[in-house]
Amino acid sequence: MMTRSAQVLAALTLLVVSAVFIGYVTHSALLITFAPSLQGMSLLTALGIGCAALAFFVQRRAALVAGWAALLAAIAALASHAAFGRDVISPNLAHAVFGLPPGQSGRTSIATAIAIALVGLAQNQRLLRRHLLADMLASAALLLSGTALLGYAYGIRDPHGVRDLYALFLFNTMAVHTAAALFALGLATVFAQADHGWARMIASSRTGGAATRHQLAFTLLPPVVGGALLEAMHSGRLGTAVAMALLVMITIAPLIALILHDGKTLDTLDLERELSDRLKQQTADSLTARLAEQAAALNHESAERAKAESAMYGAQRLEAVGQLTGGIAHDFNNLLMAVSGNLHLARSRLGAEHPARTYVDNAVVATQRGTKLTAQLLAFSRTQRLDMRPVELDAVVQDARGLLDHAFGPTVAIDIELLAPGAWIRADADQLHLAILNLALNARDAMPAGGTFSILTLDNTSPRHDPGDAGFAMIRVSDSGVGMTPEVIERAIDPFFTTKERGRGTGLGLAQVYGVVKQCGGDLRIRSAPGGGTTIDLLLPLTAERATAGPRTLEPGAPPVLATSRPGPLLVIDDDDHVRIALAEMFRSAGYDVTEAENGADGLRVLDEIKPVLAVIDFIMPGLNGVQVARLARLKQPSLPIIFVSGYADTLALDEIGNAIILRKPVGPEALLNAVDNALRAA
Ligand code: ADP
Ligand code: MG
Repeated sequence: MMTRSAQVLAALTLLVVSAVFIGYVTHSALLITFAPSLQGMSLLTALGIGCAALAFFVQRRAALVAGWAALLAAIAALASHAAFGRDVISPNLAHAVFGLPPGQSGRTSIATAIAIALVGLAQNQRLLRRHLLADMLASAALLLSGTALLGYAYGIRDPHGVRDLYALFLFNTMAVHTAAALFALGLATVFAQADHGWARMIASSRTGGAATRHQLAFTLLPPVVGGALLEAMHSGRLGTAVAMALLVMITIAPLIALILHDGKTLDTLDLERELSDRLKQQTADSLTARLAEQAAALNHESAERAKAESAMYGAQRLEAVGQLTGGIAHDFNNLLMAVSGNLHLARSRLGAEHPARTYVDNAVVATQRGTKLTAQLLAFSRTQRLDMRPVELDAVVQDARGLLDHAFGPTVAIDIELLAPGAWIRADADQLHLAILNLALNARDAMPAGGTFSILTLDNTSPRHDPGDAGFAMIRVSDSGVGMTPEVIERAIDPFFTTKERGRGTGLGLAQVYGVVKQCGGDLRIRSAPGGGTTIDLLLPLTAERATAGPRTLEPGAPPVLATSRPGPLLVIDDDDHVRIALAEMFRSAGYDVTEAENGADGLRVLDEIKPVLAVIDFIMPGLNGVQVARLARLKQPSLPIIFVSGYADTLALDEIGNAIILRKPVGPEALLNAVDNALRAA
């Protein structure tokens, strides 16, 4: 986009050149020379300047041609100077074309020719978008024409002034309007495009633009002051030397002020940049730190989540396995019950001398082993009925000592430290003994070449703290054995998980330990590393309760007590035919009168008819369960003694029925008869 000021300057130039042409056409000396005593503008000069000025008004391609034409006019003049020592082309052309007498035409000076060449070239460089080169060429033309203009300005009042100017070699014939026209063209070229080159810098709204503008304004000072001083010299008020000195001082003083001012501006700018750089750096640093913080938080969070997920997964898995094992153990217990009951019946019919007696005895031993297995499974599934009572932790561990001596050989040192005197927990002492034994057996297997086995009890509550309020007591069992890999630790508790050879490991040891601890409301922790031994912590909630009444649950294998009298009918309610028949047969063989019922509803009907002296009831049955049957029976016969036979006992539900005896399946004839005897005696 061409700026308006450039076009105005170019238009003025064209006006001047047109006036000169009219002068040539009309032979008007005044139009050619502009002032009577001055040099005229030659035809070549007028052509060159005219072409250069036209370039501002035409299309790019035509403008380029105009620029080259101006250059050509300048070269022609220079060539003439080289050949003849002056411009001979212009007068001859004026004579030939306009019939002008030779003396009246101007000639193109070398300075003029060079200035025309400069503006022509500058114009073309601008069109070729070489803005810096264009600006430099234009400013050279400005210097040449500016000097001539200043010479005219200073010499106009001085009779020698203009002559002096013309005497200077290069300028001998630069006319005043030539100088003005070339100066205008130089300015027009610089300002032609506001958004390029020096013009852009001058127009800039930034600090650089402001500095450029006031420095340029300062350049007006020396010529003005120079003129004024010259005037004073001419009028005789100042001598040459003083005028020169004043000129220098008046120019230098504001120059210094300008320099200092710009220096300060640059300094301030630098300072601001430093500040903003530092601020940027600080912002970047704090952003980086924040990002790192957030990344760390995220990492931590996802690690926590992964940990929680894996813990949950583990718990769910154990839960599922527990339910499955509990179900299997329950069904298996019913089978064992039927088998062992029938075996006992068979044995009682076979005399001691019978050849089949050994086989039956072997089968009885096998059912006893099966009973142990199901007991362990039930312990893990946490569905067995535990005989929970307050026990003193240290006493329980002390009682288990006897078991340990048999478990280890002479190569293992046993170290027991009891540091929890007065710590009571609610637990089934027998099951805890079994748990300690299971841990000891594992330790023995882990230390084939011997080592140390230690048990430590700890009570982490302070003496003044109410022990029943919170906190756990701990049994810490350690060995110096082979230890476990993380993978083994992960699965060690699983029932049937074993790394031992066939026949040596059942994989039920830790499952039993875990089941007992969980049922006590506690937890189990394993710490171990391959080659680094194993430490297993059993955490057990403390209780404020102390030992109360004796046991109600009768263990299988309790010594038989022979019934002395047979007081009346017994009622046996069990949905499993084999179990029910085995139970009934056992009672009958002991002399009791027995009536059977295969479900709760039947049982209650029979109850009305026979008014039994005691009821033996299974817990899990279709329709009414054992507890419901017992409750309804007690409505009819409030003091009826009840024995529950259960392998899969919901302990809380059974507790609802007062004064009932609970037997664990499978139960042998001695325990069964013993229980009936006890119940009848108590009634
Ligand atoms: P079992 O002893 O029948 O293999 P457990 O449930 O008692 O079953 O133990 C499961 C597995 O855990 C063992 O096979 C063994 O690999 C590992 N384990 C348990 N206790 C220890 C111990 N004290 N040192 C080394 N490994 C042990
Ligand atoms: Mg084991």
